[in-house]
Amino acid sequence: MAKMFIAGESVDSVSGATYEVRNPANGDLVDSAPKGNADDARRAVAAAAAPFDEWSHTSAEDRANLLFKAAEIVDAERKSLAELLCREQGKPFQEAMGELEHFHHGIDFYAGLASKVRGSQVPLPAKNAYGMVIRKPLGVCGAIVPWNFPITLMGTKVGPALAAGNTVVVKPASTTPLTTIRIIELMNQAGLPKGVLNVVTGPGGVVGEELLKNRTIRRIAFTGESATGKHVAEVACGDFKRVTLELGGSDPMIVCDDADIAKAVTGAMVGRFWNAGQACLAVKRLYVFDKVYDEFVGSLLGKVARYEVGDGMTRAEKPKIRMGPLHTAAQRDEIEAQVKDAIDRGARVLLGGSRPEGTQHEKGFYYQPTILADVPDDARAVQEETFGPVLPVFRVGSLDEAIERANNSIYGLGSSIWTKNLDNIETAIDRLQAGNVWVNSLHYGYDELPFGGVKASGFGREHGPEALDYYLEPKGVVITR
Ligand code: NDP
Repeated sequence: MAKMFIAGESVDSVSGATYEVRNPANGDLVDSAPKGNADDARRAVAAAAAPFDEWSHTSAEDRANLLFKAAEIVDAERKSLAELLCREQGKPFQEAMGELEHFHHGIDFYAGLASKVRGSQVPLPAKNAYGMVIRKPLGVCGAIVPWNFPITLMGTKVGPALAAGNTVVVKPASTTPLTTIRIIELMNQAGLPKGVLNVVTGPGGVVGEELLKNRTIRRIAFTGESATGKHVAEVACGDFKRVTLELGGSDPMIVCDDADIAKAVTGAMVGRFWNAGQACLAVKRLYVFDKVYDEFVGSLLGKVARYEVGDGMTRAEKPKIRMGPLHTAAQRDEIEAQVKDAIDRGARVLLGGSRPEGTQHEKGFYYQPTILADVPDDARAVQEETFGPVLPVFRVGSLDEAIERANNSIYGLGSSIWTKNLDNIETAIDRLQAGNVWVNSLHYGYDELPFGGVKASGFGREHGPEALDYYLEPKGVVITR
């Protein structure tokens, strides 16, 4: 049975309660995890508070070296970790390998930045005086992580927090605790002082809620649904914590009539169906110029038909590509309800639209890759986030129309435009209401660039040197001679 990792030790929950983690591909038991409660969360927070002074005064270079070493130790087990991630999350093994690679890159990125943090000296109007801005770590940080990319999204919080001299309590999603626990054990083997990096498992409404309320925690980094994020903001900001919220999205992709169609089709396919569509930055609404619509959609249907749903631990035979199951039954129910709503309102199913047949699919939460046309703008699949393999495609007459419809969403996470026309590119960059715009490229969060949303997609940024700003408090100092 997996255990939490608190104060340098693997521990059970205080109550001894556990729960099962099951494989979304077949319902098999993967392992059990401790079902923590508020006492466990408090124990983890106290453990993280104890070494803060020591850790925050450890030289930046030493912190960096420990992080580099931690990433190496994790990487040495990449294959077995990817297998565990595949089994608890459902994603194909190759995608899980990619997620671990991204995690490694992200931890290295922040390890490299640890010794590059700068303050400043400021001239003042007062006589014989000058100011300084120094940047201090905040203290204990809570990292609350969802199940869709449990490892990269844990890394985007742990990397900058530790590099900046903070200590961390990670709360993984209840359905994906196992790979996280193992990684945190491995990172501790690098020689982090006890309590610098901890993980506590258990229900979000209990363990997560304690992190939001606990006075010792000064920073909450949350990734998850917008509705949960609203609650996180109310509770954690109510205690004056520093909060960042990486929430849901409904990314539009715009394909102009001069786009490289083959590249754009690949961008739409991977952008929508990676991780069975369970990505915040997935392409969720596709706006194609009238002139190239038929060619584009015809090519897209042909490519997407190559997906073969199945257990992520098995490879599809070429030219087929593996797509795993949805993560939970509830997730699939939601997708089915959104597709039904679209059809009831007049949408046409161009591909998929149902569960796959066959006994090999009976025990998993499978759903076929689905493409819809003629979806009205008031349908749930347009208004809400569709967190699964469903892509509505729309015909548009102009860039103005595409941008207006793209912006007609409560969300504002990512967006993309596919064109060679510089005017179109600049117009889209300027006017799309989104935290990120990709031009002729896949929706992807690079470690080097800030990532985050506007509107109901949240606030604050992860990735990039910018993320460090959310883990360092500027302190103004006046020195008078
Ligand atoms: P949830 O909001 O359901 O859960 C996210 C995390 O919050 C989980 O660890 C959950 O724990 C925890 N949680 C739940 N309730 C509380 C609470 N009251 N207090 C504190 N923590 C709580 O999101 P999902 O796991 O369903 O993740 C999918 C969502 O995440 C999608 O909307 C997706 O778009 C978004 N996302 C956003 C990204 C971004 O960068 N903008 C990136 C990736 C995903 P438990 O599992 O135990 O309930």
